[in-house]
Amino acid sequence: THAEVAPVELDASKVIINLADELKPLAAPETLKFGETKTDHMLIVHYDPVHGWGAPEIKPYGPLTLDPMSSCFQYCPNVFEGMKAYLGPNGEARLFRPMLNMERLVRSADRVALPPFDHNQLLILIKRLIQVDSRWIPGLPGYSLYIRPTIIGTRPALGVTASDSACIFVVLSPAGPYFSAGAKGISLLAVGESVRSWPGGTGGHKLGLNYAPGFQPQRIAAKQGYDQILWLLGDDEKVTEVGAMNFFLAAKRDDGDVDLITPPLDGTILPGLTRASTIALAQAHTTGRITLPGVPGSTKLHMHERPLTMSEIASLFDQGKVLEAFGVGTAVIVAPVGRIGWKGRDFVFPVYKEALGPIGKGMWNMITDIQTEKVEFDGWSV
Ligand code: PMP
Repeated sequence: THAEVAPVELDASKVIINLADELKPLAAPETLKFGETKTDHMLIVHYDPVHGWGAPEIKPYGPLTLDPMSSCFQYCPNVFEGMKAYLGPNGEARLFRPMLNMERLVRSADRVALPPFDHNQLLILIKRLIQVDSRWIPGLPGYSLYIRPTIIGTRPALGVTASDSACIFVVLSPAGPYFSAGAKGISLLAVGESVRSWPGGTGGHKLGLNYAPGFQPQRIAAKQGYDQILWLLGDDEKVTEVGAMNFFLAAKRDDGDVDLITPPLDGTILPGLTRASTIALAQAHTTGRITLPGVPGSTKLHMHERPLTMSEIASLFDQGKVLEAFGVGTAVIVAPVGRIGWKGRDFVFPVYKEALGPIGKGMWNMITDIQTEKVEFDGWSV
């Protein structure tokens, strides 16, 4: 019986490529809005419990047809990733630490009991798709091709149970710089009544279901004039994340060095690639292996992954020790924080040219230089 046969593994060598008859005109880079422009092609692979993973297909971008009872519509076993392709010095596509995205996708899929897949094979397929649509990577500094690998549960029945069928698809969208140069820092409303994530919950994974519950609080924050939410957790109001970015605060120390503080990966924080890269680069700066552009080599950045409460931030402010704060993530890379509203008070951060302070700016420059291969660092650009 088929039950004794191991389901077929995901196999990139079986890919079927059906190219579009007609290619779309490329969008003018200045008109790009994040995630709105679609490229010519997509990747799709289906899994069912009898056949396992089918032949992957690269085909013209277009709608999916799904049974309305599919579990993705009902119970949300849906996971995704966010990655980018950049143009390297010879005009070839580069990815930034893509294995970290693949490993996180495996963990996310496992968290909602989606069928396992070989992430090395998926990465080969993603590279293939990018080659097919490589003309969509804008050749301007700060621009890139955003990559959205997604897995949805497609079990076509209403039983409240793990989805034993699934579909992986990957779509691409050219993207400009998230924040234009000279932008003001983002304003944050610190919110603790609604929480993004909680101990034992799913905030440490990249699940679609983590995001919709943030939309209504986000709308309330916007009505009060704030760009994003600073998500707090617990009676002690620990800072967790900002919008969909990881949070960093730089504070002056008595010895003239800088403390760089980010909340720890305790299960309530998404383990961001940009977060991991920021930590590694801060440490490399402090050991003298690299110098962040614009940050004196003599300024040591003492990296702390530890809980950070709103009252600690308030007390650092009152002592005049706050230097800068920023959110980090693939879409923005580094986004400066301009002010934080908390308990009726607005904490206004020091004002810098282009809103990013020296550490955030140095980090942004170093990460983009590594992404575009101007600087080589530990094989991060592939
Ligand atoms: N936190 C959340 C909640 C996110 O959705 C993202 C975006 N993936 C991040 C942080 C940043 O993660 P990364 O640096 O891997 O993009």
